[in-house]
Amino acid sequence: MHELSLAQGIVEQAVASAAQADAKRVVAVHLKIGRLAGVEPGALLFCYDDASKGTMLEGSRLVIHDVPLVVWCAHCLREVELPGVQSLRCPTCQTPCGEILQGRELQIESLEIEP
Ligand SMILES: [Zn+2]
Repeated sequence: MHELSLAQGIVEQAVASAAQADAKRVVAVHLKIGRLAGVEPGALLFCYDDASKGTMLEGSRLVIHDVPLVVWCAHCLREVELPGVQSLRCPTCQTPCGEILQGRELQIESLEIEP
């Protein structure tokens, strides 16, 4: 399952950074997920408990921060935030937007640790 391997990857990354910080236990993991990352937050949360079992992340919370979709509009010459992922067009001028500036993230933002 897609989300389970993602959850395992997140747990591995968090364990590595926590070990570097000399942490005994991780209390919470803050994760940024872009609208276009193709990740179902509910499914990821569901898999997280399993993936963190037996690691120093066991019992910790996974806090998901939604990253909005932001594109560069070459017509308006500015960054625009899109309300959804269905249409990649500038809401102001309706020009199709080529460059996605934000919204594909899947990364750990921070860890709350117990030193
Ligand atoms: Zn525009």
